[in-house]
Amino acid sequence: MKRVDERDIIFSRASYQKGSKQYEDYYRRNPEKKEIDDALREAPYPYGEGTATYHPINSSIAEGTFRFLGDIKKYSEGEVNSRKVEVNSEEITNKVKGLAKYYGANLVGITKLKEDFYYSHRGRHPENYGEPITEHHSYGIVFAVEMDKEMINRAPLIGEGIEVTKGYVNTAVIGMILSYFIRELGYEARNHMDGNYLLVAPLVAEEAGLGEIGRNGLLITNEYGSRVRLGVVTTNMELIPDEKENLGIKEFCKICSNCATTCPGKAIPQGPQEDVEGTMRWKINAESCFSVWKRVGTDCGVCLSACPFSQGIEAELLKDIKNQTENRLKILEKYKEEHGLRPFNHTPHEWI
Ligand code: SF4
Ligand code: SF4
Repeated sequence: MKRVDERDIIFSRASYQKGSKQYEDYYRRNPEKKEIDDALREAPYPYGEGTATYHPINSSIAEGTFRFLGDIKKYSEGEVNSRKVEVNSEEITNKVKGLAKYYGANLVGITKLKEDFYYSHRGRHPENYGEPITEHHSYGIVFAVEMDKEMINRAPLIGEGIEVTKGYVNTAVIGMILSYFIRELGYEARNHMDGNYLLVAPLVAEEAGLGEIGRNGLLITNEYGSRVRLGVVTTNMELIPDEKENLGIKEFCKICSNCATTCPGKAIPQGPQEDVEGTMRWKINAESCFSVWKRVGTDCGVCLSACPFSQGIEAELLKDIKNQTENRLKILEKYKEEHGLRPFNHTPHEWI
């Protein structure tokens, strides 16, 4: 698989200001993206004035939270204690997982990292734009935090966006605690959090057996569907990795296209997976998706709520869905009976 260049992701591209070094460099190398990116850049940013859901108070909750995340991301790396504590891999693996859960993670997995999980170059921030990513840790501890179903079902309204920012904070804090703990033991560790990932978190999560990347391009877990935020801590401390699992979620996506049908930007493909730079997957149209975010003023999230896994599936029906077509059809039928195309919670929230 070809490594993703962080300079190409839509959030990086949206941040290149006209006249800046990043802008000049990026569009000299990618002139075909200039027109569409310039048009996207001109529209107000999500949570900004001029977007459909803008509210001077509620939008400031999300904006303030992102500012906080921006302020703490510098703590993702830190000094390693010179006094090294000898640890037993099995015992420390249990402790790391236990600590993540104690701080609020719902799912935790560990995997050996492959080089292609890492971005090839940094791209989100002017201070390190274009830096190649060459230092790789051996293990990824990946954790998922559930996001509240009723808030996510408010998508694409502001309640969904506020819940997502809360998920980023929760995963950032868990990652900080784990990485500070591991460095205290005398081993290298780095937290990968919002605005400061060096790797593609869903790839790490899939490899660690937390779920599978679905048609909507997100990690789908059996337990919470796409209603999760992911955090990763990487380290060189020896840990016991989990097994990647075939949960049958991709098989399910082949007969379900709720996310594609309900996506307001038509950004999710209806058809089969395609070969994208050597990997078979569904390719999301990031420009179409981001243009919805810019119009609506939140991160949309309709594809999170439209996924049957996000609404909960009975354990009995989930059993062996990779082989049981009948169970897959029953899940879809039940979802349609209960939610139609998708659930939409538009009742006013008690305080937002
Ligand atoms: S966030 Fe909204 S626009 Fe983007 S892919 Fe999901 S449903 Fe489509
Ligand atoms: S809505 Fe259906 S097709 Fe889309 S990710 Fe969920 S299960 Fe897969």
